[in-house]
Amino acid sequence: MSGAEGGGPAVDAVVWDFGGVFMASPFEAMRQLAEDRGIPHELAIEVLFGSYDADTDHPWHRAERGELDVVSARDQIREIGRGHGHDLDLFELMRYLGGGAVNEAMVELVRRVRAAGVRTAVLTNNIVEAKDMWRGLVPVDELFDVIVDSSEVGMRKPNPAIYHHTLAELGGVEPERAAFLDDYPGNVAAASAIGMIGILVELDATPAIAAVDALLT
Ligand SMILES: [Mg+2]
Repeated sequence: MSGAEGGGPAVDAVVWDFGGVFMASPFEAMRQLAEDRGIPHELAIEVLFGSYDADTDHPWHRAERGELDVVSARDQIREIGRGHGHDLDLFELMRYLGGGAVNEAMVELVRRVRAAGVRTAVLTNNIVEAKDMWRGLVPVDELFDVIVDSSEVGMRKPNPAIYHHTLAELGGVEPERAAFLDDYPGNVAAASAIGMIGILVELDATPAIAAVDALLT
């Protein structure tokens, strides 16, 4: 697509996570919930989301792989919480996520990437029940060549298989020719481990956006 010798983009594709990148971070919502309830943040994460650096059979992970509906996941997570002496409700966390404020600067970045002739994808760990919500926040069909939703493909980050699947869907892009943006460090590490250019999106997304722009010229 582009040669290093002639300048041009250093990548053939850019892949974005969705939650915490285009919209509010569930981890930030969890931090707030844990603080309000006086529960250690790490414990709240462990109960509600499991060991997020791994792909396990925690009910949230199963829901993200499309193996469990959200009500069953909520019930099972409550059981786990009770085992730790806390009543933690997944639906309460969802209320903390609030409305769907979109990071428009990130949307504009996608448009610049496309204008540079670079392919675009979303790779999201998500649940079936959230599909209409997140897809409705940005014009996904206009912005992305490929959309990979964990609940549809039965795989989730940080399983390397879902990154390879995304690169294949993009037309067989080499990992070294693809950037990956995510707000969760473990997901970025997994992308880097297979050779992708991993970019962590922090609460202030400005440095991550600048890092992608730097790859375009
Ligand atoms: Mg995220």
